[in-house]
Amino acid sequence: MNSKSFLVPDAIYEYILKTTLRETPVQRELRERTATMPQARMQTGPDQLQFMQLLVRAIGARRCIEIGVYTGASALAVALAIPADGKIIACDVSEEYTAIAREFWQRAGVANKIDLRLAPGEETLNALLAQQGSYDFAYIDADKTNYDAYYELVLRLLRPGGFIAVDNVLWGCDVAYPAPTDADTVALRKLNEKIGRDERVDTILLTIGDGLSLVRKM
Ligand code: CA
Repeated sequence: MNSKSFLVPDAIYEYILKTTLRETPVQRELRERTATMPQARMQTGPDQLQFMQLLVRAIGARRCIEIGVYTGASALAVALAIPADGKIIACDVSEEYTAIAREFWQRAGVANKIDLRLAPGEETLNALLAQQGSYDFAYIDADKTNYDAYYELVLRLLRPGGFIAVDNVLWGCDVAYPAPTDADTVALRKLNEKIGRDERVDTILLTIGDGLSLVRKM
C-alpha cells in the first residue's frame, strides 16, 4: 500500500481501509495502476483523498485549485466531491503523467470539471490572480522548494473561510530532526514554522499520510 502514514501500523491502516474506504472502481483502478509506476510513492493515499472529499463537501467548495497533479487521483477525488458546476484548475508540468490523469478523468465522467494547465505552477497562479478569481479550496502537492511561493499565491486567491491542504509536511519525519539539511526538508521545515505562526490563518498539522497541514484563511 502506498502513501500510508508511517505513524500508523500496517494492521491499523488495513483495518481503516477495509472498514471505511469509499472509492469508486475508476479510483481504485487508477490507484492500482499508479502503484506500479516508478514514482508511485508520490501518490496521495486513498484515506487522505477521502478526507479531502469530506472537507470539500463540508465547506461547499465549488472552485478549487491543485498544484501537482501527477497521475490525477487527487483532482479526480475533488472533482467527484464538488457539484456539477464546480471546477478545478489543475497545475502540472508533466505531459507524461497527466496523460494518465486525463484518461481516468474521462472514464470517471468528470473531465469537464477539470481544467488542466501544463505550465509552472507560479505562472498559472499569477494568471489566476490577474483574473481576480476567488477560490474555495486548494491542494498543494508539488515541488517542495516552491511550496512557500505556492502558499502565498494561493492564500491571495482564496476567499475568507477557504481552505488549503498542504501535503508531505512531515516529509517522512525528516522535518522533525536537525540532521537532514537537503533543500526539500529545509523548505518544508521553514514553511511549517511560518504557517504555525501565520496570523492570517487557522491551522492544524494532521498526521495522515506523510503529514497534511490544513490551513483556513481568516
Ligand atoms: Ca504528496
